[in-house]
Parts: sequence; C-alpha cells; structure tokens
Amino acid sequence: MSLTVVGSIAFDAVVTPFGERERMLGGSAVHFSLAASFFTDVRVVGPVGDDFTEKELAVLEGRGVITDDIERVPGETFFWKGHYEYDLNTAHTDDTRLNVFGDFEPKLSDASRSSDLLFLANIQPDLQRQVRAQCGDAKFVGLDTMNLWIDTARDSLVQAISEVDCVLINDAEIRQLTGEPNLARAAAAVMEMGPKAVIAKQGEYGAALFTPNGFFALPGFPLEDVRDPTGAGDSFAGGFLGYLDGEADRIDQETLRTAMGYGTVLASFNVEEFGTERVGRLTREEIESRLVALRAMTDFSTGD
Ligand code: AMP
Repeated sequence: MSLTVVGSIAFDAVVTPFGERERMLGGSAVHFSLAASFFTDVRVVGPVGDDFTEKELAVLEGRGVITDDIERVPGETFFWKGHYEYDLNTAHTDDTRLNVFGDFEPKLSDASRSSDLLFLANIQPDLQRQVRAQCGDAKFVGLDTMNLWIDTARDSLVQAISEVDCVLINDAEIRQLTGEPNLARAAAAVMEMGPKAVIAKQGEYGAALFTPNGFFALPGFPLEDVRDPTGAGDSFAGGFLGYLDGEADRIDQETLRTAMGYGTVLASFNVEEFGTERVGRLTREEIESRLVALRAMTDFSTGD
C-alpha cells in the first residue's frame, strides 16, 4: 500500500500564549506525512524554494517519508505566520505567502500516481484538483481545506470536494462552506456534493465522523500541556489515512472508527510541542499506549 499527499510544505512563524518560533518547518503536507509515516509509505508532492535546506528534508526523511516528488524551484518556500490567543482552537492568520506555490504545476512520478490512497491537504483547490486528476486509480481520497480557500476559490473547492471520498474540515469552516449552522445538516450538505464521509474537526473537543448510515465521535485526548495547536488537523488526517492505508484490510465503519482513534492520538502528540518537534521523535509504542488509554476513556463499560 502507499499513500500520496499534496499540500503545503512551509516555514511557519507561530506565537501562542506558551511560546513562539520565528521560523520552523511546517505545512499541511509536512504535518500529515510525519503522522502517516508511522503506518505506511508516504510520498509528498509539492515545491520548496532555495531556502529549504537539508536540515528540513532530514526531518521528513528521518521518518522514512519519500521525498522524490518534492520539487526544488527558484524562490522562497511557502510561508505562514499565525498566532493563537488562550482559545487555542482558533488560529489567527497574520500572513500567508504562497511563494513557490504561486505557479506550481504538479507532475507526479509514476509511483505517486499509482498510490492507493491520496490526501489533498490544505492548499489551493486548483492544485488539489490537478493532483486528483493524475491519481485516477486511488481507491480512497481525502481532502482538507480552510477559510482562505472558501473565501477566495469557492467554486473550484466545491468541484474538488465532488471528486473525493472523505472531507476533513474544521467545524467553523464546514459551517462557512455550507452556510448551515447545524453541524449534522452541514455534514449532510457536504455529502450532497459527492463525498461519502465527512469528518468535522472540533479542536480540543475532538472530531465527529458523519457517513450516510452512521455517526461516530471521539473527544480530543485530554492533555494538561498544549503548546502549539498548529498542524493538529493535518496530524489527525495523517493518523487517520495512514492507518487506513497501511493497516486496515478494508474501509468500513469499523476501520473508520479505529482510524479516528489513531487520528486523535497523532493530533494529541502534535500539539504538545511546537511544529514538528514532538512527532519528530515519537515512537509507535507511545502511539499504541495512548490509543489504549483513549479506548478506555471512551468505553461505556468500566470493567468493574
Ligand atoms: P492546521 O493547524 O492543521 O490547520 O494546519 C496548519 C498548517 O497549515 C501550518 O503548518 C501552515 O503552514 C499551513 N497553512 C496555513 N495556511 C495555509 C494555506 N492557506 N494553505 C496551505 N497551508 C496553509
């Protein structure tokens, strides 16, 4: 099995009430691929600029992420600057510079084109669609997006959504996309666009899975120390699709629920420290023991 992701490969400047970093490795495709790398072979598609060094590449390659489809082009790497108040569920964007993504035209290698699973992480919807079109054989395709693209590229985004199986999106953004304040109705409206599954991410409150014949939700893993929520959604998606690609023998209600568990666990590790710091040195044993704890705290029977 193998999994391909397109999305931002970035330098992030982030301020939270618990610290700050002026320039660190980030981007939706980076957070996604690090999380998914615990379960399967992940290929990242996207451009980086001259300022992207071996040091950043080593973070990805250190986790076995396949970087053959990362294209080095003249110019600067995508840059995002944001901050959070005490409500860590809301990211405030201060600056977005597409830089090398501005006129990037993806040309995927044969290996990336023939991946079984595909994730269109948060980036311009036109780019998501170009990659989708090149991966005709993908059995299951996920998509994430954000308010910027809902505001500036809505038509293309709706078209991209119609071409995927599962949308993973923030609860505020799914309401914005559909104009529907009620989450269940908003999820139904997204399914009407084409996908058969919708995951509404609710920050520290967890995530909810809507399918035509089912509903499942998990809380966020309760943590006492959260330093930087940047990339939590992408790490969730990486745990979710990584598990489905690498370890599930089918995609059905049961495996989707387990995938929600792995997504929740990976997101929880990601937010404990800044950027990729925590997931960069995470182990599979730590993931499994947190999954056991999550299972225990969401089970109705106490075992007594
Ligand atoms: P998340 O916190 O999971 O929503 O994702 C945060 C990551 O998304 C950061 O590492 C940013 O580099 C990246 N990002 C922020 N804005 C955008 C955007 N407009 N397009 C693509 N990636 C973005």
